Amino acid sequence: MIRLFFNLCKCFKSIKYNNDYQIHLSYVDNASLDIIPCPSCGTEGNYHSCGSYTRNLICYTAGQVEKHEITVPRIECASCAHSHAILAPVIIPYSPFSFHFVISLLYDFITHKFSTVTALCLEYDISISTLYRIYRRFIEDKKLMLGMMDAASTKACELLDKLFNANSFRFIDGLLHDFYRSNKASFLQARCRIRLSVNTLQATHTSPP
Ligand SMILES: [Zn+2]
Repeated sequence: MIRLFFNLCKCFKSIKYNNDYQIHLSYVDNASLDIIPCPSCGTEGNYHSCGSYTRNLICYTAGQVEKHEITVPRIECASCAHSHAILAPVIIPYSPFSFHFVISLLYDFITHKFSTVTALCLEYDISISTLYRIYRRFIEDKKLMLGMMDAASTKACELLDKLFNANSFRFIDGLLHDFYRSNKASFLQARCRIRLSVNTLQATHTSPP
């Protein structure tokens, strides 16, 4: 998997920062791989296209759940022959839910926007067990995120407030990038990483995220 993140990708300028589907489309169209090192061998920019795969991306945009089938391009490193998927930072590996879908869901859950958990899950079209699974993952990753922000006293609600109300995707992208570099896995990623060694993660490269 290759994640270029905002500062390496010439896009997003005209896109509302929380429209994850549009961010994905712009990312795929504009991503530049020239200076990106291969995650497996470190060689820079020596790739060729090796097809693509489709996956679901469920977004929450302007108060509506949107379900998209997206195409994720794959590239192969000419030096080591490992293949990598190119994922926009708003795609959470191995999860159908987009980044802003999850942040919005958690924000509404923690701030009790809906009178019951059932009403919340109906709004987002998910099961209650899915909600709690996402919440547990967030609480686990929050500890890592807060450590990076040097703000151990920050509560879950405060972190979500930063992520939910940020007026620029650049700010969020910086946090996501730092998290990825520190933990070798994405924020809120389901199939985990911190419990796996880097070598194990690299060995799973053939499983599309
Ligand atoms: Zn390589």
